[in-house]
Amino acid sequence: MRAHAGVPVLDRREGSCTVGCGACCRFLVLQVNPQYIQNEDIRRWIELHGIRLQERDGACWAYIPTPCSALTPEGTCSLFGQEGRPRVCEVYPTSQAQLDELHEFVGEEVCTYRFAVP
Ligand code: SF4
Ligand code: SF4
Repeated sequence: MRAHAGVPVLDRREGSCTVGCGACCRFLVLQVNPQYIQNEDIRRWIELHGIRLQERDGACWAYIPTPCSALTPEGTCSLFGQEGRPRVCEVYPTSQAQLDELHEFVGEEVCTYRFAVP
């Protein structure tokens, strides 16, 4: 998932998390230097590591397929309900854009949250 510090939960969100899904816990998205995309050699080197680069919202993002260490083999969060669980996890997903990003990365519509059209 992509970290959105300080982003509030939107009240248009509907549905709930599916226990055992864990799809959003299996990768993370980090903003990186745009030169990583522009420089073909560096881009190829990064992508050979299984990291996908993409320009979105005027910035460059790296999609890193690294599962969270708190994700259990059953696809649940071992930190659920505990203080150490990041807030970005508690509020995810906060927007339709995040859902679209997740589904594009996974290749299917796995998340059971939805956002009502305003
Ligand atoms: S802390 Fe829990 S909810 Fe957050 S990414 Fe890790 S397993 Fe998923
Ligand atoms: S992708 Fe959606 S349903 Fe699956 S674990 Fe994440 S928030 Fe829950």
